[in-house]
Amino acid sequence: MRCPTCHVEFAVETSRSMPFCSPRCKQIDLKRWLGEEISLPYGEASDEDPRSRDSADSDHDD
Ligand SMILES: [Zn+2]
Repeated sequence: MRCPTCHVEFAVETSRSMPFCSPRCKQIDLKRWLGEEISLPYGEASDEDPRSRDSADSDHDD
């Protein structure tokens, strides 16, 4: 089998971190995956201004 991180061929029965050849390669793949998720562009959800909704909601006439 080939490790998806370092692309080295290894024996499946010797690996304790399937489908990676070693726990290190598993960590590298996980960090790379998390890094890609963090670097994704965000801000589409903050299109609405929460203050305009708040002022309209607190329109109490005591
Ligand atoms: Zn590897």
